[in-house]
Amino acid sequence: MTVVLIVVIVLLLAVLGAGTMTVVRRNQLGGADRPPEPEVRDGDAPAQQLPEPSPPGEDRGTPSLDGAGSASPREPEPGTVEPGRQERAAPAGTRPRLSDRLGRAKSLLGGSLTAIRGRARVDDATFDELEEALLLADVGLPLTGRLLEDLRSRVRSGEVADNPTALLGALKADVIALFAGEDRDLRYAPESPSVWLFVGVNGVGKTTTIGKLAARESEAGRSVVVAAGDTFRAAAGDQLATWAERSGAGIVRGADGADPSSVVFDAVQHAAARGADLVLADTAGRLHTKVNLMDELRKVRRVADRPPGHVSEVLLVLDATTGQNGLVQAREFAGAVEVTGVVLTKLDGTAKGGIVCAIRSELGLPIKLVGLGEGANDLVAFDPEEFAEALFS
Ligand code: GDP
Repeated sequence: MTVVLIVVIVLLLAVLGAGTMTVVRRNQLGGADRPPEPEVRDGDAPAQQLPEPSPPGEDRGTPSLDGAGSASPREPEPGTVEPGRQERAAPAGTRPRLSDRLGRAKSLLGGSLTAIRGRARVDDATFDELEEALLLADVGLPLTGRLLEDLRSRVRSGEVADNPTALLGALKADVIALFAGEDRDLRYAPESPSVWLFVGVNGVGKTTTIGKLAARESEAGRSVVVAAGDTFRAAAGDQLATWAERSGAGIVRGADGADPSSVVFDAVQHAAARGADLVLADTAGRLHTKVNLMDELRKVRRVADRPPGHVSEVLLVLDATTGQNGLVQAREFAGAVEVTGVVLTKLDGTAKGGIVCAIRSELGLPIKLVGLGEGANDLVAFDPEEFAEALFS
């Protein structure tokens, strides 16, 4: 009996010991062992320190930055801040045309349209086929309904001739008209540095888009700093560092799990101290809860907009292959931060190119850029006429 008791006590002690070690290890990862926040110190601009971030996994809340005092200056972490190397900027390449890369989106609508074009006149079957084609291309139910209803009444009134060529011509003009008046220019603040924030869920292509834009803006002669604000996804910082290296942009990084606001803040300070024109700031696309994510984005935006930073673009990155799901995401992000435009990625690999129309019509947000591949040059300005031409050709 005594022996049994002793064995039980020894086992209990062993289990308790292991538990304590696990907790200590976690605390070390989240606290003392974690590398310090990135800091940028410059002779002209005294470094400020944001409140210490909480360990990943905790709600960091919304610290007041107004009260943040000056921190005792520390040397930047080695490898944390790399100044831009403009002389290493990649040479300009040829950008693809939207129509060359629409691929499956083009062939899908094109295939259905061939059948419609073969009809002698416009009847109910023509409208049914057109509806199917538009829905398959992910134009979405509400907009497809509106477009076709309008076309029906125009055919009835004789405004549009009763033949498929005239019908498709009218539809193409309607698609182009959806984007009329859209301000697609990317904005720079009157004073440098301008900050462009990139928001969107994980995997949509934020980091890649920043890399492509860093290359493009560097080629255009602007001095660029990228902020690796996606500290939640371990690989995002390395991915961005590779892009920055290629384009000659500077990069400011934080430790994994560091406060993204502090990374963006440091990037803005770093850019201002060096007279850089533009900060391209990555953000996390996933946190423990959606509420955390949106709170964090609001905070990042506030911090980035504090002088000397000026947020002139908040670009929502959406993956065209997710179709109507992109609309749901767009509503959530647009409700949390003032989105100024959409970057629609992966339009090269999808039959759902029509989502562009749904985003414009349902959300009223301008489509500023489209991603047509994974290479540095595979990012182009959205051109509605070229898009419609490709869809209807
Ligand atoms: P993030 O999590 O939003 O930062 O997404 P990433 O930038 O890491 O991109 C996720 C994946 O999508 C990567 O494999 C990218 O190469 C790929 N990607 C990004 N943009 C495009 C695009 O326009 N076309 C294609 N085909 N792939 C893309």
